[in-house]
Amino acid sequence: MRVLVPLAKKEVVGIVLGERREPVAEHVVLRNIIAVLDEMPIVTQEQLRLWQWIAEYYMCPIGDVMAAALPAKIGDKSYSFSPVKKRRVRLPEYTGEIEPFHTLDAQQATALSQIKTEWEAHDTTLLFGVTSSGKTEVYMHLIREQLEEGKQVLYLVPEIALTTQLTDRLQKVFGEQVVVYHSRVTDAVRAEIYRQQLYPKPRLIVGARSAVFLPFKDLGLVIVDEEHEPSYKQQDPAPRYHARSVAIMLAQMYGAKVLLGTATPSVESYYNAQTGKYGLVTMKGRFAGLQLPKITMIDLSRQYHRKEMYGHFSDPLVERMKSELEKGKQVILFQNRRGYAPMMECEECSKSPKCVNCDVPMTLHLRDRRLTCHYCGYSIPIPQSCPSCGGKIKIHGFGTERVEDEVHEFVPEARVMRMDLDSTGKKSAYQDIINAFGKHEVDVLVGTQMVSKGLHFDDVSLVAVLNADNLFNQPDFRCYERAYQMLEQVSGRAGRKGEQGEVIIQTFDVKNPLFDYVMAHDYERFYAEQIAEREAFNYPPFSRMITVILRHKDVMKVHCAANELQRRLSQVFGKRCSVVIEPGISKIQNLHIRTIQLRIEAKANYGRAKAMLREQVQQVPELKNVQVLFDIDPM
Ligand code: ADP
Ligand code: ZN
Repeated sequence: MRVLVPLAKKEVVGIVLGERREPVAEHVVLRNIIAVLDEMPIVTQEQLRLWQWIAEYYMCPIGDVMAAALPAKIGDKSYSFSPVKKRRVRLPEYTGEIEPFHTLDAQQATALSQIKTEWEAHDTTLLFGVTSSGKTEVYMHLIREQLEEGKQVLYLVPEIALTTQLTDRLQKVFGEQVVVYHSRVTDAVRAEIYRQQLYPKPRLIVGARSAVFLPFKDLGLVIVDEEHEPSYKQQDPAPRYHARSVAIMLAQMYGAKVLLGTATPSVESYYNAQTGKYGLVTMKGRFAGLQLPKITMIDLSRQYHRKEMYGHFSDPLVERMKSELEKGKQVILFQNRRGYAPMMECEECSKSPKCVNCDVPMTLHLRDRRLTCHYCGYSIPIPQSCPSCGGKIKIHGFGTERVEDEVHEFVPEARVMRMDLDSTGKKSAYQDIINAFGKHEVDVLVGTQMVSKGLHFDDVSLVAVLNADNLFNQPDFRCYERAYQMLEQVSGRAGRKGEQGEVIIQTFDVKNPLFDYVMAHDYERFYAEQIAEREAFNYPPFSRMITVILRHKDVMKVHCAANELQRRLSQVFGKRCSVVIEPGISKIQNLHIRTIQLRIEAKANYGRAKAMLREQVQQVPELKNVQVLFDIDPM
């Protein structure tokens, strides 16, 4: 139950975690509870156990877990859980027709029965099915069985952009049993969904990662769709949890089964399936015998050299676009940078205007006529000349706005829309863009990774990646994995209704072996190479990583603290402890950052390693006032 308690000079809402009868130590000051706010518990025992597990595993205060778990409204003392009170928000109701299920094709039917067989021996099973193999239909059959048994189902999706098409489809068969829970749903609605979950009934919760925090009663099944998606990991603030890991823990508490679904498994999950920790079911063909798209590579160095470019489009791409658009088809263009150009640079001194708060160049946003920092939002009008030397400044690189402008130039009659963080700021913007493109009111959709995810449009015959290089030119051992997933997923948007789709990938690095795997849609070979590398260099899943992040306004302070902590940690952890790392972006929002990384053998006792780490952190006097954060299993 919630209670109102005095904290410093304020009254705050807290949750009773337990009761203690023994006397407390002398220096502990006890305060009286001002009021008990609820008539019955509003957090279940299972939730408390899950919070506890998250706090321990991810090394954060349980209060942070609570803050992430409860809709903000519930933290308001005037919020009442009583069912009799009126003034409740009504959850959206479904008024459409209920449609029958599709009949599964042979591949889907086999997968369905294999999944059930795998569940007999493994609580978690990985469904590895290529894009458009019909995974969603398989999920729907599994969901129906659970609901009919009176059970609840949690269906996690990585990106709220995905939920519109998906919930439409789910509501057509499950009607009002479908409940959508994510950050774009208003807090009042979220609180009401939470409240109703305390009165259990069969329901399908479709949600982003925070849906794992809802109260459940008879949870029978958790589906983690697109399980490979990095956005399942919360980066900031704490708890820095991975929703896939939490979902597996949640399911275990209820004796529920877990299905991880994807066309491009994470290396970790595929490894778990290969080594027998998870069950594995594959679907290698697309539904209705549709072929996987044909992929063509374009060598940008050659194109530039021969001057066969139109802006950032190679001549062959321009030609293919024109021809598809003439046939009345639609095109998706992918560029993983928003804004007009990632930075401006002085022709004289080569400096780029940087953010005053962060150690990053600012991105040019031509639509707003401003330079903007993507880390803190700080922005300035576009400077006319170099702020440091007065020289002429030029534009460097390109983002989605520039792509959009170039398309307007070479196919002026085409209707173009952009989907990225800037164009989807308003509440219904995602839906509006997806609807417009779905109704073919738009011919060309330009977007960031948002366009790569699970969307289905019947008329898209061509997908192009304008520059694949920035996908893998990054200092991160997962960058090839991410690049493979991105390219395979974005390719999956091409080809529908019986026609093979086409994908064009532009790059300066055509010889990169990554593209062989992508062109052959050969995940297994790609995985074999990756896992061998991970083993050779002792990366996860062969080790587990912890990043210790130190932040402070004063660069010397954070520097000294990091050195001292590193010295102690390397005494305890030996070679498992890295040197002090100055990250690529070493200052964000006026806080200087240093990190130290620990790599613990997969077989070692992880809990003990964390306890040892905590002990060392507590002993470093230089850490006083320095922010110390832990990122467990960082991504
Ligand atoms: P995935 O989730 O594997 O990418 P989907 O489940 O979205 O694939 O299926 C791809 C497309 O094929 C969707 O448009 C879906 O409606 C259609 N589809 C899949 N299975 C069936 C089926 N058994 N009967 C009719 N249509 C189906
Ligand atoms: Zn900034």
